[in-house]
Amino acid sequence: MSEGAAITREIFLGLCSTSRIVFYSLSFISICFFIWGIRQRLKKYYSGKSSGGISNTLGRVGELLKLSLSNMTIIRDDLYSGLTHLLVFWGFLVLFVGTIIIFFNFDVVALMNRKWTFWHGSFYLWASFLLDLFGLVLLVGIAMMMLRRAFFKPQRLDYTRLDRDPDTYSRTKYVVGDWLFLSLLFVVGVSGFIVEGLRIAITQPPYSSWSFVGRFVAGLFPEMGTAAYKVLWWTHSLLGLAFVAYIPYSKAIHMLSDLANLFFKGRVTGEVPSLSEDELDFDKLGYMELKDFTRKELLDLDACTKCGRCHISCPAVISGLPLSPRDVVLDLRDFLAVKAKTITLWDSQAGSYKDEKLVGGIIKKETLWVCTTCLSCTEHCPVFIRPLPLIVKMRRHLIEGGFIDEGVQDALINISECGNSFGESSTNRGKWTSELRFDVKDARKEAVETLWFVGDFASFDNRAVEVTKAFAQVLHLMRLDFGILYDSERNAGNDLRRIGEEGLFEELAEHNKAILDECQFNVIVTTDPHSLNTLKVDYPNLNHPVLHHTELLNELLKRRQIALKRKLPYKVTYHDPCYLGRYNGIYGPPRDIIRFIGVEFVEMPRSRRNSLCCGAGGGGVWMRGENYGKERLSNMRIKEAYETGANCLVVSCPKCLVMFEDALKGMDLDGEFVVKDISELLLEALQE
Ligand code: SF4
Ligand code: SF4
Repeated sequence: MSEGAAITREIFLGLCSTSRIVFYSLSFISICFFIWGIRQRLKKYYSGKSSGGISNTLGRVGELLKLSLSNMTIIRDDLYSGLTHLLVFWGFLVLFVGTIIIFFNFDVVALMNRKWTFWHGSFYLWASFLLDLFGLVLLVGIAMMMLRRAFFKPQRLDYTRLDRDPDTYSRTKYVVGDWLFLSLLFVVGVSGFIVEGLRIAITQPPYSSWSFVGRFVAGLFPEMGTAAYKVLWWTHSLLGLAFVAYIPYSKAIHMLSDLANLFFKGRVTGEVPSLSEDELDFDKLGYMELKDFTRKELLDLDACTKCGRCHISCPAVISGLPLSPRDVVLDLRDFLAVKAKTITLWDSQAGSYKDEKLVGGIIKKETLWVCTTCLSCTEHCPVFIRPLPLIVKMRRHLIEGGFIDEGVQDALINISECGNSFGESSTNRGKWTSELRFDVKDARKEAVETLWFVGDFASFDNRAVEVTKAFAQVLHLMRLDFGILYDSERNAGNDLRRIGEEGLFEELAEHNKAILDECQFNVIVTTDPHSLNTLKVDYPNLNHPVLHHTELLNELLKRRQIALKRKLPYKVTYHDPCYLGRYNGIYGPPRDIIRFIGVEFVEMPRSRRNSLCCGAGGGGVWMRGENYGKERLSNMRIKEAYETGANCLVVSCPKCLVMFEDALKGMDLDGEFVVKDISELLLEALQE
């Protein structure tokens, strides 16, 4: 035997052949449990609708590797928890690969030809070192996680519900499941080191310093004999096998479902799935079935680790309203687990869900209505789970059943009768143009370079119309060739679609699309991020680029020599509208324009992807309900802006503008504080 071949370790040190047979039999049983558990998950997913094919497989694999190996989406919003997860992830990964290598060496290669085995010599020494190092990394990570759960108790890990009285629900299984997962992994790791230490104490290999943790443990138990070693070997092995069997039934499934979710994920968008014919059976309103969900949606639900990032970033939670995206996901998951008869271990609070109605029962009507569709949940979810399309699907049941807020009901009637949510005659859509000193072209009658899709609020709300006129004047000053659709324009349908009114949305989209197809233009612009979003995301085959006015203005300012006429006296802060920022990733252009104007600029603590919703989205701007929770979102946002020391809150959405102006009326702020659209600010700076 060569010297290198002697440097190794025995896997079954001191164990008889019967013990080995028992071990392999138990391993087989454990793997069978694992496969059966995975099978029941897959069966559940395949009960759902097809999510369509996937494209760019290689790109997806690359993205999966980047996101999973770096843990970047976990680290970005919470450094402590991100780093602990990174330690556990890498620790587990290396130990898993090590176990596979050992299996391959002893149970595959050795059976073919003993001479081909490689678990010895320098390979063995380096492998021993790495396994000890990453085993330690794993234990440190788990210990830090436990410490945080036990002592720091961050708000996002608090399972208290906002939609129920404390004595009407239980979270015990979730809490037990969380601790069981961490504890089991921890005990497997610790027992592994003890077994290693005892083996070193018994065999005294001269190269034991490579297994530095095991050697340290050996020093703690120098007198332990083979009997104790065997007991601990079995303890460690049984715990390890139990962990493998436990994975598909418990919180541990996220180790696989999250990877699958990262592979299948799309771009973070607020896209809403189309309504399928069988989705709304009027006799079964509220009773959703597995087949009402897509496979990707079912996978999304299983990927949730209850990390609570969506929970603490949701404006409903922030304002104390009865909605938490985390709880929506968990309620749906538990409900569907019962439907699919999935066996789970301390990972479900399904209770008596079997005969209960989902929409308006397990998930309350008010829960669904307080969602502002701000997309913060998906933006902050480390594995890109999308609660919003699920909420919209459930809202469709409420719309069908007529369970809606009076204000929303009125808006629906107005839109269906007049094509706008204000109930104004279509002929008044272009009325604001008569107050300008120049003509605005009719894009239906002549070709224009830029077609301006104005939107309801920008056409009819008195305050928003001021902005509309300001933007028109800026375009005129910049000599841009533009026109509007006048009375042919209809509500774009973004918010209708997101409150669940799919039928009316389709009518409007069809109408607007037909008009747009008849006009000649190069690009569409709008000041309304909601219209921007739906034109870009929901309208089929529009065939023209759609720009937000901040993008267009920024381009024009860069391309043309435009001189400012005035230095403005404002210190400004900027509010990122949800449908501009999180939905469409437009963060830079508004800030570039503010810099161009040259006013003092300060960011709010919650800006860009962390921006706090104003409360207008998802039909919020139409609602008459007076339940604002602890405080109205728009009030909170004004205070946040005011506390930066700014005297002007700059916005780039007519709905945000209206919400903030409304909030400002009821607030008693010292000194002058104004809300302005970015075009108003630019116009002021461009005029004498
Ligand atoms: S979209 Fe916004 S309001 Fe709705 S659940 Fe998600 S975070 Fe909450
Ligand atoms: S949905 Fe995503 S962010 Fe929310 S608790 Fe689950 S994993 Fe965390």
